[in-house]
Amino acid sequence: MNTDTKIILKPGREKALKRRHPWIFSGAVQKVEGKPELGSTVAVTDSKGAMLAWAAWSPHSQIRARIWSFNPDEQINESFFKRRIQRALDHRMKMGLPEHTNAWRVVNAESDGLPGLIVDRYAEVLIIQLLSAGTEYWKDTIVDVLAQLFPGCSIGERSDSEVRSREGLKLTAGIVAGKEPEDRIIIEEYGTKFYVNVRQGHKTGFYLDQRENRQAVARYIENKRVLNAFSYTGGFGIVSDLKGAVSVTHIDASGDALDMADANIRLNNLNPDKHELVQGNVFDVLRSYRDQKRTFDLIVLDPPKFVESKAQLAHGTRGYKDINMLACQLLETGGLLATFSCSGQVDRELFQKIVADAALDAGREVQVMEWLSQAPDHAVDLAFPEGLYLKGLIGRVW
Ligand code: SAH
Repeated sequence: MNTDTKIILKPGREKALKRRHPWIFSGAVQKVEGKPELGSTVAVTDSKGAMLAWAAWSPHSQIRARIWSFNPDEQINESFFKRRIQRALDHRMKMGLPEHTNAWRVVNAESDGLPGLIVDRYAEVLIIQLLSAGTEYWKDTIVDVLAQLFPGCSIGERSDSEVRSREGLKLTAGIVAGKEPEDRIIIEEYGTKFYVNVRQGHKTGFYLDQRENRQAVARYIENKRVLNAFSYTGGFGIVSDLKGAVSVTHIDASGDALDMADANIRLNNLNPDKHELVQGNVFDVLRSYRDQKRTFDLIVLDPPKFVESKAQLAHGTRGYKDINMLACQLLETGGLLATFSCSGQVDRELFQKIVADAALDAGREVQVMEWLSQAPDHAVDLAFPEGLYLKGLIGRVW
């Protein structure tokens, strides 16, 4: 391979790479040889010139390069992408995912050895996100490989996440192969149907990472009055009704999400009278329920990422604590709290502390029944701990 463009690391800065962490930060780079193009493949050497890896060059980002391969003999070309995507696919097939659902994550970026590449499958539509300069550089190849591996599927792109700007890339979305998908695709997970809007929905359209947790919570739902806070398109609440909840209150700030929740209730032939759809700010709505002395038997708290960066940690932590405190106050004695955080910066230990402090402030005790994480198709490579972002617990509140 061409080693004309090269990154030489500062002495000692090869340590992270030796532990197979795939990011090279700007501060670790001693020198760049040649004039690599945005996203092109560069050789990476230690300070003495020993070859370590092949990486994608990202001059605008603090993460200056992302490793494609730690094997100096491996070529980065179409067959490389075929091998990596095929391995990611095999991993999901071995999990038996298609037996339970037709919507799952095919490729989970760094944790599948493909930094910045997300591929989600929604029935016969694949949605890709190219979140790094390297994936943008190889876009045509990636799309070709996916079209070969998934014949008959359309491929759409949702590279409209802000992280693209940090990579020096424009935000973009649209169909890249096959026919234009329907406005609303119907997916099925464990027998529950959901409409997904792959053009405008959050992330690539749906919170696939919560699939197994929707099932975990469903086991406790029978005869419960459920509050589904941060409901999005109904997720936990639709599953709750199917498993015998007596009533479900959904709260979300987005009217579009609640309209879709309403459509999902009907799609599953459920009784709309059992469902209350409340558009509002969860912080305010929970406070007003507390003032009204309204109570619930089970509360799901699945907020958006409150902490995007270290600078937001204190503020985000207060947000998590506040909603958990309010939820504890709204639960009947012995009621259940299913609470989550998808902020990577909040690790499980900190999350436990936040919920413990919230319970203390509410004057309640919480006994953990289950620890939860992201669905296994959202694979985590142990060398890349940043890949683990979703954590949660189900606890009994006394
Ligand atoms: N539980 C859902 C996913 C929730 S995503 C599922 O299983 O599919 C988070 C949701 O919180 C989004 O729909 C967003 O619109 C909503 N949201 C964000 N901030 C909010 C706030 N302060 N009050 C109410 N909803 C909010």
